[in-house]
Amino acid sequence: MTRALVLNATYEPLCVVPSRRALVLVLNDKAETVETTGRVIRSERAEFAEPSVVRLARFVRVPHPRRRALNRRAVFLRDDHTCQYCGAVAESIDHVVPKSRGGEHSWENVVAACTRCNATKRDRLLHETNMRLARPPRTPTFMARFVLADRRVPDGWAPWLLRGQDGVARSA
Ligand SMILES: [Zn+2]
Repeated sequence: MTRALVLNATYEPLCVVPSRRALVLVLNDKAETVETTGRVIRSERAEFAEPSVVRLARFVRVPHPRRRALNRRAVFLRDDHTCQYCGAVAESIDHVVPKSRGGEHSWENVVAACTRCNATKRDRLLHETNMRLARPPRTPTFMARFVLADRRVPDGWAPWLLRGQDGVARSA
């Protein structure tokens, strides 16, 4: 099934839907086609260009961006298999705020760590140690999540996916 990338009115990537669903949005004036796949979708009476990227006519506020699967492999990929405390090869996952101290199992509280740092830190908070994080753990961007999920990025999506990244213009 062909999928279409849905952009917010501000051109930020929002979600992925089947192309037919994207076409319905376009036909109902809820969205405009930005890119097409070059193929057509046929209905009983007409043919339509199959959308690859559509942009919503109205801005949709996303209060809580959908969380993508947080797993060991994805955390290692995000942190480049490097211990975020000392730079050694990471073999384990550490909760920055330990679960026993109320820390969440979330992208912002989980880092790749080597066994030694993990054992040194134990159930202490960062300020109770002399350890420092190389960088604050973040939820991967829309683009990064695609790569982490090993999903192929369809032709024509990349420039739009990159718009959601930090530091890239958010309006066209
Ligand atoms: Zn380490």
